[in-house]
Amino acid sequence: MIQSLIPSQVCEIVHGFLLHGSEAGTINQIIVDSRNVVYPETTLFVALKGAKSDGHAFIEELYQKGVRYFLIKKGSGISITGKEQGAFITCEDPLSGLQLLATYQRQQFKNPVVGITGSNGKTIIKEWLGQILGQRFAVAKSPKSYNSQVGVPLSVFGIAQYHKVAVMEAGISKPSEMIKLANMIQPSLGIFTNIGTAHEEGFFSQDEKLIEKTKLFEKSKFIVYRKDQVKSTRYLEANFEAERLVSWSQEPGATYTLSVKKELDKSKILLLKPDLSLFTFWVPFTDAASLENVRHAIVAALTLGMEAVDIQKGLDHLKAVDMRLTLKTGPNESLIIDDTYNNDLAGLRLALDFMAAQRPKKRKVLFLSDMLQVGDAKAVYEEVAELINHHQIDFVFGVGKEIPVLKDKLSEGSFFCPDTESLLADLDQNQFDNDLILITGARNFGFEKIVNSLQQRIHGTVLEINLNALTHNYNFYKTKLFPDTKVMVMVKAFAYGGGATEIANHLQQLKADYLAVAYTDEGVALREQGITLRIMVLNPMQESFTNLQKYDLEPVVYSPSFFLQLAKFCRNNRSVMKIHLDLDTGMHRLGFEENQVEELTRLIQEYPELNIASLYTHLVGADEGAHQEYSLVQLELFLLMSAKIVEKLDYQPLRHALNSAGIIRYPEYQMEMVRLGIGLYGVEVNGKFDQALKPISTLKTTISQIKNLKKGETVGYSRKGEMLENGKIATIAIGYADGYDRRFSNGKGIVLLNGHSVPVIGNVCMDMCMVDITGVEAKEGDEVTIYGPGISLKELAQRIGTIPYELLTNISSRVKRVYYLD
Ligand SMILES: *Cc1c(COP(=O)(O)O)cnc(C)c1O
Repeated sequence: MIQSLIPSQVCEIVHGFLLHGSEAGTINQIIVDSRNVVYPETTLFVALKGAKSDGHAFIEELYQKGVRYFLIKKGSGISITGKEQGAFITCEDPLSGLQLLATYQRQQFKNPVVGITGSNGKTIIKEWLGQILGQRFAVAKSPKSYNSQVGVPLSVFGIAQYHKVAVMEAGISKPSEMIKLANMIQPSLGIFTNIGTAHEEGFFSQDEKLIEKTKLFEKSKFIVYRKDQVKSTRYLEANFEAERLVSWSQEPGATYTLSVKKELDKSKILLLKPDLSLFTFWVPFTDAASLENVRHAIVAALTLGMEAVDIQKGLDHLKAVDMRLTLKTGPNESLIIDDTYNNDLAGLRLALDFMAAQRPKKRKVLFLSDMLQVGDAKAVYEEVAELINHHQIDFVFGVGKEIPVLKDKLSEGSFFCPDTESLLADLDQNQFDNDLILITGARNFGFEKIVNSLQQRIHGTVLEINLNALTHNYNFYKTKLFPDTKVMVMVKAFAYGGGATEIANHLQQLKADYLAVAYTDEGVALREQGITLRIMVLNPMQESFTNLQKYDLEPVVYSPSFFLQLAKFCRNNRSVMKIHLDLDTGMHRLGFEENQVEELTRLIQEYPELNIASLYTHLVGADEGAHQEYSLVQLELFLLMSAKIVEKLDYQPLRHALNSAGIIRYPEYQMEMVRLGIGLYGVEVNGKFDQALKPISTLKTTISQIKNLKKGETVGYSRKGEMLENGKIATIAIGYADGYDRRFSNGKGIVLLNGHSVPVIGNVCMDMCMVDITGVEAKEGDEVTIYGPGISLKELAQRIGTIPYELLTNISSRVKRVYYLD
């Protein structure tokens, strides 16, 4: 819902050139993702080139759908013949164009804008401040963590004239990015959350990060920050006028003194104002991070002129938010997308996009509450209806007093009721069968009750897979490659334990080029779940030839005898099959050896039924400098052997040799394709880019029981764990049958509990184990992290003398996998 534009205005704003088409017409929406067209005739599509795909490739399709306005790159070679009704604007760089359009839109908005940056807490502060301000004002805020070079412009386009205040976050990953975000956000009030000490890729030092991040505030009237953070305070105070600085601290000397008194499950925040008046706020949490974030939100709300009573009303509704879109298992093979925290249009749009990216199921079902968007309700519901129809939702459950206005606007089935309780009374699990169910509603509707009633109970141990981290890691490796180098992703062994189907589906969204599985059955399963990417099978067996053919899977061929078997099978069936040749250059596992190359080329010529899709070899020590010489010998031998084979062909197969470690160490040998494995799952085995990758999986469980024990008492089988002092142990719900290695027994393993690492005591049992939690505050039911952010898989593997690969792939299939986007 931008301020309307006409094509000639767009031209002017982006310094572009109207290549073709009319200068008149109305533009009300700007999109960058071709799947998001809702109002084609008034939409401007900006063609961006990303790591995943190039927007220019979708122009034809969008034109067919009725989109008429396009911002494209100068010289992109897009053919406009046959698109006479379209207006095509060219510019040097469509991303800058998008940002200039955002800057223009921002300038049309005259009310306050809050801009948040810093290393941690941005998204939470944005959400909380949005909720607090929402007590009094119509608030626009960026959806989820839309804080990047593309996310910020899209967030700015979500600001409408009826909004009284906007809250935006800004995140950067390298120098020079902030100035662009600052131009688009132009915050009248800035919040600086904190500065992390961790080295971030792209920055030389903490100082550089600080200087860069604070560029957001160059034009801000007020800057809110925490005064007891010495480094950032010193910098802000030296570089910004005193009257613009609004600081808070526990210590005296800051603009606001905010001290905290914790109780069992809530905290009291005492606030001393500059005029020495004293206020008390109550907040429903006690952990340090939440308390820091909420104090930023309180001070910002006060600075914007909110009354303390209204702030407290907002605080009453806060919850330690889980803002992730999470996939859960529902009744009768249904899949639930849990987005119970959401409440505005921007969030609904994201959730529907996420839904569209899932594997197709029988029906798409949506649970939706009233939209808590103050302002033009009619226009908001108009747009909600358009979105629902556009996404072809088969059935809508609407909850609330206002939402029934949708009734006549929906093209498919619907059911409305005034509140969540009456809905629950009518809800029958058996209504759902293999459906995709999106549950999204405003906080106060308590939609988590719907999720609870539909979700299948899970065993206390879960493996959470962060699909955004997966995207991040995939894109990281893409940056190490030439743009046209193909990527095959290894999803063998259940995608390194992460769950092959969901991960393959996500990779399909990311437009990976190939997948590889270990066995034919794994490939068949992927096909049956709707995966259409090309799939290589590393270990095909003769019994599976029929399935290879039936499911369009591409086997690896590694010996003359196997070649003959497969070739004869194809000849008998009068069929052709794409295959991949494994050349053994030193691994000595499977593969053709150098002295078999001649025989192989003869076979290839004799049996054109087998079409060589690719040739590859595998490095034995790509992750270790010590094996560099050997690796180079392998690579050169591979080039030699493959040249001999390709020479005899009248087509060009792909060649590939590098695994994750190899991409980092030998990028000059990337050839036409690489094979990405462990790196995608967040482990950089070379140890060179540990910080650049994000862990994708977190293995979690819960405490079943806590016991106090005396010095000398023993724990578990064979009395191996002895209490050296009086203390306390917790029994947690994970054992070696879940894949928690028995070698972690007796202190070898550590787990993370409420921010503390605690050691395993005694032997790991089949379904449980015990940890020594002496001195740590904890209660039964508390969550325990086995590995994930904060407890590195690599380190754990080292503790028991193995490699991360083994730990990842050992997680038993009885451990539920839960997927989410953060
Ligand atoms: C598993 C595998 C890979 C991936 O290796 P990573 O070290 O996980 O990147 C690549 N190629 C082949 C042949 C493999 O079996």
